[in-house]
Amino acid sequence: MSQSTPSVKSSPTHQDRSAPRYDPRGGHFLTHPTDPAALFIPEEWSDEQLLVRDTVNDFCRRHVQEPFFERGRELQITREEDRPEIMATFKRAADLGLCSVSIPEEYGGMGLDFNTGTLFSEAIAAGFSFATSIGAQTSIGSLPIVLYGSESQKRRYLPHIADGSYIASYCLTEPQAGSDANALKTSAVLSEDGQHYRLNGQKIWITNGGMAQVFIVFAKIEGDPNSSAFIVERTFEGLRIGPEEKKMGIKASSTVQLYFDNLKVPVENLLGERGAGFKMALNILNTGRIKLAAGSVGGAKLCVSRGVQYALERQQFGKKIAEFGAIQARLAEMAAQTFAIESAVYRTSSNIDKKTQHFAAAGRELTEAKLRAIREFAIECALVKVKGSELACYATDEAMQIHGGMGYAVETGLEMAYRDARITKIYEGTNDINRMLAVGELFKRNFKKEIDLAAAGRSVVAFVMQQFLPFASGEAFAVERRLVRAIKSTFLLLSGAVGKRFKKELIEEQEIVLNLSRILAEAYVAESVLLRVQKLSATSAQPAERYAAQLAALRLYLYDSRDEAARAAHAVIASFAGGWTRWRLDRVVERLLRRPDWNPRDLGREVAAYLYERGEYGF
Ligand SMILES: Cc1cc2nc3c(=O)[nH]c(=O)nc-3n(C[C@H](O)[C@H](O)[C@H](O)COP(=O)(O)OP(=O)(O)OC[C@H]3O[C@@H](n4cnc5c(N)ncnc54)[C@H](O)[C@@H]3O)c2cc1C
Repeated sequence: MSQSTPSVKSSPTHQDRSAPRYDPRGGHFLTHPTDPAALFIPEEWSDEQLLVRDTVNDFCRRHVQEPFFERGRELQITREEDRPEIMATFKRAADLGLCSVSIPEEYGGMGLDFNTGTLFSEAIAAGFSFATSIGAQTSIGSLPIVLYGSESQKRRYLPHIADGSYIASYCLTEPQAGSDANALKTSAVLSEDGQHYRLNGQKIWITNGGMAQVFIVFAKIEGDPNSSAFIVERTFEGLRIGPEEKKMGIKASSTVQLYFDNLKVPVENLLGERGAGFKMALNILNTGRIKLAAGSVGGAKLCVSRGVQYALERQQFGKKIAEFGAIQARLAEMAAQTFAIESAVYRTSSNIDKKTQHFAAAGRELTEAKLRAIREFAIECALVKVKGSELACYATDEAMQIHGGMGYAVETGLEMAYRDARITKIYEGTNDINRMLAVGELFKRNFKKEIDLAAAGRSVVAFVMQQFLPFASGEAFAVERRLVRAIKSTFLLLSGAVGKRFKKELIEEQEIVLNLSRILAEAYVAESVLLRVQKLSATSAQPAERYAAQLAALRLYLYDSRDEAARAAHAVIASFAGGWTRWRLDRVVERLLRRPDWNPRDLGREVAAYLYERGEYGF
């Protein structure tokens, strides 16, 4: 460990328990306006939070990038000779406190608030496959005990997970139970003396499994319709760990199968309530999803920076490739997407903190308050997971393209990043599952009257009528606000129309639901970046050229977002409507989602000029 690497242990930013004025609700972004002043934006990180980020970045640079990847050396857990180095790097991370971010102080952790934990996930992305290992340790591996464990379970396990002496894993997936996680077959039978359970079954794709001491295992207790969770230790009799999987990417991260052959688990290791395992699994996945999105943003920022640096250095046709419009457009697009999705990620994670404070101020115990707050934002967590993972894959692909042949060479590390990024669309729930989940959850809340889609839909009619009048407004952000409202209105209009047509059968119309979800995701991200720039416009704290670039990035994102929403909307219409209805809906959507009068080439050039001036991502 480098002597000069600071420890994040010295920089906690704890959970505040006083209720903020703004009380956000999950899914309400669609039906209620948000005051930009109420939004958290990444420009507001405190010095303490930035110290967490910088410490993690420093660790990744010194202990992962420089010794391995910058020398073209990809550590692989399947190689016997690489394992000691992988374990030593994990230990170094633990010594710096990087395993303790989600664990409360009383159990040896840092007790960071949710938003700082999300920033941590963004920063650790610079550690490539190590991000996966540390991510599993600090998120899905340890949060089940943090959020659902008994006092004695917390005392027994959390201090060891915090100091890295125990590596943790989360064991849900089985050969026959992937997306259909509740179909698991692993069984648990209580012994006659009532002292322990015997578990039988198999788990697959278990991150950290090959090196873990603690396994959170989901299994069905004999006769129960729903699963329960158990804390299993490596030394428990009846646990067999399979060999490391050979994977496309994240090769330094351990992934194994587990076999339970009459695995003996003491009764006191039942985690949470009996039969509550599935709910627990889903809630833990919500946190995993937003952390994955933050990691994707971190990876995308690196890709933009690498792309900028290469473009400024590589010469072709007698000039730097940075001067070509084609390169500028790619970099600007990557930066705009990153800027926008980052806005949505931290909007969500700071809202989870705000909601936690509200529940706590209303008298709920803090852990219960956190759980409820995480569940509240299940829709947003699913949306940012999809958008974040798409960004990760897109940005690595584009960074490689900017590097030309060098991007394909192992030594630049980009082919590794490209392979590593691909898993993000698959785990923590595949993107299709998350897309459908977001819309399904919204409809469920509408049914439970927690959200009123019909009332919001009624205001769409008046808004649509206004769109046929000449457009004139001198108000700040008039065009941007109209566009965001138009994307939301398109979702409300079409979800109402298909809801009427298919009723309860709508969920079977997956092609339509997926396209609705694409519009919903655009509504959320587009509004988040708009609110961010609106808030920034009210501050004079940053240089004018930076604000100009932010405004250009906002417009560039909205320009594409409109295209994506329009494509998805017309596909929805064509999938269910015919004749006059189809004609009418197509015309309404065209009018609603008409293109703003912006020049995407100039916007791209403005963003690229800012990136070149900073020599990196720089927003
Ligand atoms: C490297 C790696 C690490 C992992 N780490 C962990 C871990 O630590 N712990 C853990 O428990 N799991 C882990 N997983 C498992 C991961 O969460 C699952 O792979 C993922 O949820 C998808 O399940 P599956 O692979 O069985 O795919 P399937 O569920 O078989 O899906 C196959 C395809 O069918 C689609 N599909 C499935 N159901 C539907 C439906 N109802 N409607 C429409 N389309 C559908 C999917 O979207 C996908 O495109 C990991 C996986 C990998 C590859």
